Amino acid sequence: MKYVSTRNNKLSVTGSTAVLTGLAPDGGLFVPESFPEISREEILRMTETDYPERSALVMSKFFDELTYDELLGIARRAYATFDGDPAPEVKLADGLYVLELWHGKTHAFKDMALSVLPLLMTALKNKTGQKETCLIPVATSGDTGKAALEGFSDVPGTAVIVFYPDGGVSHTQKKQMVTTLGSNVKVVAVRGNFDDAQTAVKQAFGDKELAGKLAEAGCKMTGANSINLGRLAPQVAYYFSAYADLLSSGQIEFGDKVDFCVPTGNFGNILAAYYAKRMGLPAGKLICASNDNNVLTDFLETGVYSLDREFIKTTSPSMDILISSNLERLLFEFADRDGDTVKAWMDELKKNGSYDVGGERLCEIRETFWGGYAKQEDYADTLMDVYDEYGYLCDPHTAVAFDVCNRYFDECEDDAPVVVVSTASPVKFAATVLDSIGITPPEDDVKALRKMESETAFPVPESVYALFGMPERFNEVIDPAALPDTVYEFAKGLKK
Ligand SMILES: *Cc1c(COP(=O)(O)O)cnc(C)c1O
Repeated sequence: MKYVSTRNNKLSVTGSTAVLTGLAPDGGLFVPESFPEISREEILRMTETDYPERSALVMSKFFDELTYDELLGIARRAYATFDGDPAPEVKLADGLYVLELWHGKTHAFKDMALSVLPLLMTALKNKTGQKETCLIPVATSGDTGKAALEGFSDVPGTAVIVFYPDGGVSHTQKKQMVTTLGSNVKVVAVRGNFDDAQTAVKQAFGDKELAGKLAEAGCKMTGANSINLGRLAPQVAYYFSAYADLLSSGQIEFGDKVDFCVPTGNFGNILAAYYAKRMGLPAGKLICASNDNNVLTDFLETGVYSLDREFIKTTSPSMDILISSNLERLLFEFADRDGDTVKAWMDELKKNGSYDVGGERLCEIRETFWGGYAKQEDYADTLMDVYDEYGYLCDPHTAVAFDVCNRYFDECEDDAPVVVVSTASPVKFAATVLDSIGITPPEDDVKALRKMESETAFPVPESVYALFGMPERFNEVIDPAALPDTVYEFAKGLKK
């Protein structure tokens, strides 16, 4: 399997190059040269295998430089850090299911891929003989940061530096990050919002001077943000797994279409659903759920992607994103895989703050995708409704998905079963959850967690309470312009 760039379909690189560099040299994202296929028999066989085996099968379609057994070893190790089944499906009613992706160490779906990525990188690095330390700058809207820190902490030959928007993440998210142990990690707050942090990190990747200085320090930059192919592939697996679980519990028969409703920010998670569909999963509609930052809803309505809007800070911070990087991979497919077309749109976005894919392409995209958004007050009500009606407590991001899912079924004729993808545990957002179910949250984070636990009986792991007693290791705040220097200083200080 070779990979091409979304901005140049003549470029062709191996999976290891795609994973170890993260971004293509022309600024595009790596995409498979053609979609690998997962057959009916393979899906049916998944009903009898466990999650790591399902994951290894899907990953083996992307990474042929590693054997199935090597990939299975990676998946086994990665998912051993999870609490039980990595991707359990909960039935709320006939035709309504929740796919819980937050049973990893950091309680958000980012663990699904970021527990795998460090092992994948190390294995591919060994295959290619790369000697330099993989230095990984990460921009986070809250959850990626901790998952990356946890995944890479003390992994030999790697180092990770996380940039989060100052004041733009929840208390628990910040606490999780700044208390991380490990000699190869660092956490820095950036003035501005997530897009500012992400843009500065993207610029660092294109910064030749920085690359030169890092090479002298024995480091090579690579990306672990959701644009890295090594994150996309493990995410494709849980859509197949969800379908296999519906098959084995007799909820559906093979070939039945299943809709997925995904709370979306950077478009990574829902793109994985689209990839799964292209690879042979009998998926129906992919429902793209946004919060007040509804740039994708507008795009799916008009075909125009426009940044001419305010950035709104919400109670679902991991979706507070205006520049959805992974959308570029979708555009590539709907531009008939023509890199020049994609490049022209991306140039326009940079220059004028918007692009228009045109009515015909929009129609094609809408055959698969439906977009909707939920305002903060509305999804808080929905969180309460879901709790009342099903006794199911969800986090605010998942509540956005439930809300948009309701809108979809109100507006569209579709009787397919739907899987709502749940991306975080309520423990990460206790104050918002309490507020939504009509209980005034205590100021103190630990008290809020205890309150949530006593009021709802939702079990809060001891490790989450323990977090608040841990010393904070990092308190640096920088301007986006200082990011390259900060990365370099970090690289110089790494123990060899
Ligand atoms: C990252 C994240 C999202 C958004 O996922 P994308 O892949 O960026 O679309 C949604 N919910 C939670 C809790 C997240 O951490």
